[in-house]
Amino acid sequence: LRMVSAAPMGDEQVSDEELRPHALSSFIGQPRLKAQLQLFLDAARKREVPPDHILLAGPPGLGKTTLAMIVANELNVPIRVTSGPAIQHAGDLASVLSALEPGEVLFIDEIHRLPRAAEELLYIAMEDFRVDVMVGKGPGATSIPLTLPRFTVIGATTREGMLPSPLRARFGFTAHLDYYPHEELEKLVERSSTVLGITLEEGAAEQLSLRSRGTPRIANRLLRRVRDWAIVHDLPTVGAEDVKEALELYQIDSQGLDRLDIAVLNAIVRNFNGGPVGLNNLAAMVGEESETVETVCEPYLVREGFLVRTPKGRVATRKAWEHLGLQPGNDVTT
Ligand code: ATP
Repeated sequence: LRMVSAAPMGDEQVSDEELRPHALSSFIGQPRLKAQLQLFLDAARKREVPPDHILLAGPPGLGKTTLAMIVANELNVPIRVTSGPAIQHAGDLASVLSALEPGEVLFIDEIHRLPRAAEELLYIAMEDFRVDVMVGKGPGATSIPLTLPRFTVIGATTREGMLPSPLRARFGFTAHLDYYPHEELEKLVERSSTVLGITLEEGAAEQLSLRSRGTPRIANRLLRRVRDWAIVHDLPTVGAEDVKEALELYQIDSQGLDRLDIAVLNAIVRNFNGGPVGLNNLAAMVGEESETVETVCEPYLVREGFLVRTPKGRVATRKAWEHLGLQPGNDVTT
């Protein structure tokens, strides 16, 4: 498992809890989104009605679950949590819907993975606050329409494009979460270190933020590993050098690249003289599945300008050569 993966590792779903801000004001960064959401919630509160349905779109680990919980908290209503893959049949969703309290927030994570029939049931529930419950089986089965109280769906998706447009159209507010700039992650690390009782020296939060790939979940994870380091070495405070050393142990470098990212760049540069090289060749070279290379390594390498995808294959950029300590264009093939 990779330390720099944006998906939760081990029991992180639980340990994430303690680091979760509960008010919009303590949610770090994403200023525009926060301002929009604040207005949206204030208006609903003034009108004394549950707000329109909300869609949160963006890569994993950027705070979608956190925002959904903040919304429920700010509105002072309960929240019920489910996910696309957890709902196997439309009936599963019907029973969740029919148990909702007035004003309740229904959080549906990975909403793009709802089965088709459940999706259709959801449109109707979102629009008309009604659900048809099937009673009985076989030819004698009948459907009984049930009126639901007004409630708010918060859908989260990493693949907004996979949502059918009729479903997307039912959300009154869509928020796009984006990777966090270093300065924001630095603030987040500072906040988390206070919660975890770690004293960071000048520059330590910055070093952590530079290695966290713009992702709060990764920043919090790396901070916990740095805490381990500090405990084992009996450090009362953590400095920038401690962060570097601790994370070197986990093979995470100054730009947040790990062993696999470096292997990919090395393969392109040293085995294919910078590319272009096809995905399958590249994956074989580093001994990984093509899918892992494509979905786990490449997005960050491309985003950070280490690699470009061309019709002929992957090409290492000047930045990649330099990061490996090499002169771009020199023949270094081994
Ligand atoms: P996934 O889609 O993979 O479930 P997510 O986008 O829902 O991920 P969260 O679980 O909300 O991510 O966040 C991951 C961790 O990062 C949590 O511990 C959360 O407290 C923290 N976090 C995320 N965004 C922020 C933020 N803006 N300010 C403070 N903490 C944050």
